[in-house]
Amino acid sequence: MKNIYSLEHREVRDLVQSLGYPAFQGDNLYRWLYLKRVQKFHEMTDLPSALRTYLSDHYFIGLPEVIDKVRGSDGTTKFLMELEDGERVEAVLIPEKGHTTFCISSQVGCRMGCKFCATALSGLVRNLKFHEITGQVLRLLEDVDNRVNIVFMGMGEPLDNLEEVARAIEVMSKWMGISPRRMTLSTVGLVDKLEEMLLKFPSLRVALSLNFPDDERRTQFMPINKKYSVGDLISSLRKLPIKKRERVTIEYVLMEGINDSRADAIKLGKLLRGLKVKINLIPYNENEFLPWKRPKNDRVEDFASKLREMGYSVFVRYSKGNEIKAACGQLRAQRGQGT
Ligand code: SAH
Repeated sequence: MKNIYSLEHREVRDLVQSLGYPAFQGDNLYRWLYLKRVQKFHEMTDLPSALRTYLSDHYFIGLPEVIDKVRGSDGTTKFLMELEDGERVEAVLIPEKGHTTFCISSQVGCRMGCKFCATALSGLVRNLKFHEITGQVLRLLEDVDNRVNIVFMGMGEPLDNLEEVARAIEVMSKWMGISPRRMTLSTVGLVDKLEEMLLKFPSLRVALSLNFPDDERRTQFMPINKKYSVGDLISSLRKLPIKKRERVTIEYVLMEGINDSRADAIKLGKLLRGLKVKINLIPYNENEFLPWKRPKNDRVEDFASKLREMGYSVFVRYSKGNEIKAACGQLRAQRGQGT
């Protein structure tokens, strides 16, 4: 038995054709799976009944299994999901005004090794397949009925798993009615792959986890900076066509005594001069695994106002989900032991 969700759209069309049915029945099947989200083949009423029987004899309809769900007081809900091979990932549902944001994972673990991030501690276990990414979204959709935004800000570096993430984006946009304009891909800055991804999906929104205003500290905390330096990131942002540039969000995790001084704010402001960006400041989410601290709120506000004085739009992301350990950099699902 094989998971029907593991088949790409063209594979589903090939399958039904090989069984003697017209290819459009493959489209119908995909619609049942992704749009109508039916869990049983026999409920797929517009498929020929012999095809339905064949499918239920050879395939199962397998979504990630939700093994834990923790809801915070503001409605932010963390889902722990188990995959077919027993690996686990987390996804977070964040209610916002007029829509719901889904923060989803792209890998089990991560190999970028950022020193402040709990997900990095396990290293990369494996890439997710496209259907394990869309599967998280399908599971979260069971709990909401309003408009959905997707952010690739859960576990993993999405551009380190470009192919499967691109497949997932394609399925979501073609079959689930979620436009890439409503998806944000967050990256440590794998610039070649970013350009490749934007060629495929020009309207995809981009967030860059810059986090430090200079190479010295960025390299110390984010080893990937040895490959793509701060200068590389900035010049790559400048090269993106203006429309794409407008969409770039700069993420900056504020860590007490590390990168949160007024001088750092000025340095950051100068670095980004001339770029159309908005800045998301994320006060560090403390966790039991790592020693870094969150700066006091007035220090955070000070940092923000310095940048605002310099003309930037700045949002401070006082994390939702902190109380349930679902905030940025706190996702750390481990096989067989929850979080
Ligand atoms: N790998 C991608 C996607 C993960 S997004 C990326 O790095 O962009 C996770 C975001 O949370 C990143 O901006 C990261 O810098 C930030 N982050 C990691 N650990 C954090 C922590 N403990 N507190 C606050 N933000 C954190």
